[in-house]
Amino acid sequence: MPKAIDHLAALTGYRDRDLLDVTLAHALMDLLHPLEVAVWKLVGEGDQSRWLLRARLEDQQVTAVSDPPWVAFEDLPPRDTATLRSDCIGAQAVVCGETDDGERITLFPLLAEGEAIGVIEVRTEAPVGAGTQRMVNSILRIYRNFHGLLDYSERDTLTGLLNRKTFDEAFLKTALRPAGPAQGSSDERRHDASSARHWLGVVDIDHFKLVNDRFGHLIGDEVLLLVARILRSTFRFQDRLYRFGGEEFVVLLRCASEEDASHAFERLRLNMENYVFPQVGKVTASVGFTEVLPGDAPSAAFERADQAVYFAKQNGRNRVCGHGELVRQGLLKDSTKIGDIELF
Ligand code: GH3
Ligand code: MG
Ligand code: MG
Repeated sequence: MPKAIDHLAALTGYRDRDLLDVTLAHALMDLLHPLEVAVWKLVGEGDQSRWLLRARLEDQQVTAVSDPPWVAFEDLPPRDTATLRSDCIGAQAVVCGETDDGERITLFPLLAEGEAIGVIEVRTEAPVGAGTQRMVNSILRIYRNFHGLLDYSERDTLTGLLNRKTFDEAFLKTALRPAGPAQGSSDERRHDASSARHWLGVVDIDHFKLVNDRFGHLIGDEVLLLVARILRSTFRFQDRLYRFGGEEFVVLLRCASEEDASHAFERLRLNMENYVFPQVGKVTASVGFTEVLPGDAPSAAFERADQAVYFAKQNGRNRVCGHGELVRQGLLKDSTKIGDIELF
């Protein structure tokens, strides 16, 4: 029992979700001594969702393995190809199976707000007894509650997107992570290319005050919710999406070139333009984006993207402007060259 309590202490000691999943795998390994334990999460929307491996540990293994952070969505196994996992998610209950070699597989659903968001897959020689299953489910409840607390402090309550509080840390951690070689991928070239650069985009809804004035705050909130959904469906699951307050959103995305980043934001602009918002009809957004440079401060990158949004607003709205391109065209001053400009 003391060991179990140690694990629970470790589990709730992290605010980093990657570490949380690894700690969960270690806790279950120590408590059950299985042949293998794996933490799987579903990523993507509904029927189109796929399995992402968050942590897998085999017996005697010290370091957990996981899918690389920038794995391509298309390389992940689709939800329905893993029958047992899919059954466990569907039933939101423990599911047992057997491998061809007679090993037992026990799957526990990972729940969040009544929805199954992943599974824990445990491979053992003997069946996992009812008492052990209850213990695992108790640990998963603690995991779930802790996840809920993290969400509460890190996410915006209206849209579920990340809030501003976590931006700086994520900017430094995710955006400036060295672009290492892709692992475990069938398409290394594309991964290497897409792992190269990071971009920060500021998305500001056009004339949003008018939406509130004409239709009321509740409908305004509904528009914000739908915009968050459009953002989620436009970008990759690893791209980080924030609501920075009011009707302003921030996207931290990783792609190979300025052209690709521009296309991604242009896709967002079009998805917004083509969406028919209930009662309101058409709502558009202006986007400004900039490359995240080595040694960049979060506030400096944000400032550049913000200048580009401002330019988009001044020049017709419903458009995407890249800070780099505006500087090259002489339409904006390059505020990154701090060393050789006059201080004002
Ligand atoms: P622009 O095209 O220049 O961006 O114009 P705008 O009207 O979108 O910009 P402005 O900054 O003047 O107004 C933003 C409005 O967003 C003002 C405020 O009423 C509204 N707003 C801010 N937060 C919320 C919110 O949480 N819910 C709702 N419904 N409205 C909000
Ligand atoms: Mg605004
Ligand atoms: Mg606005």
